[in-house]
Amino acid sequence: MSEHLKFENIYCVGRNFERHAKELGNKAPISPLIFQKSNSAVSVKETIEIPKNKTIEYELEIVLLIGKDGVPKNQEEAQTFIAGFSIGLDLTDRSLQAELKKKGLPWFASKSFRGSAVIDTNFRHECPHEFYLMVNQKIRQEGNLKDMIFSFEDIILHLSKIVDFKKGDIIFTGTPEGVGALESGDQIEMGFYNHPPKKLVAI
Ligand code: ZN
Repeated sequence: MSEHLKFENIYCVGRNFERHAKELGNKAPISPLIFQKSNSAVSVKETIEIPKNKTIEYELEIVLLIGKDGVPKNQEEAQTFIAGFSIGLDLTDRSLQAELKKKGLPWFASKSFRGSAVIDTNFRHECPHEFYLMVNQKIRQEGNLKDMIFSFEDIILHLSKIVDFKKGDIIFTGTPEGVGALESGDQIEMGFYNHPPKKLVAI
């Protein structure tokens, strides 16, 4: 189901892994922390453009594809809204984000620049539990579903208090620890263990 996808809203969850929340000096949240990227931030290309004079960090995340319009009422219904699971990078302009956080301002500019929502369009019907990111052949991030503070269903139900879902909505579900900067020339590989990876290059 990769060629004819049309993405709608891009929702993201912050601090969904405790050790990642701590590595950036934050406490684990008591309800899902939601922010958005603009639809135009999506990139399905094999290259990541690093803007000059910026520190762009990777955040490896499982990405959910919403498969229908509406508002789920409970956990079972929430599950039926997921049409597929894949991997993505929530790219972040970390120094700008730190500046915005300090001023108490929205993160938008640091999270929604062009190309900041990298998505592998190879969505699966089942979600493997373990996922990883390698940069230049070294493992940088590893995640396991069991370490998520909020499950996929929790996130969907929380969001459904705020929005109506649309078929084609995307949810980035939060990153495990190990975030770091990308530099042009970096060779990136991301995926679920024992499944074909997505390979990218930073330019
Ligand atoms: Zn993220």
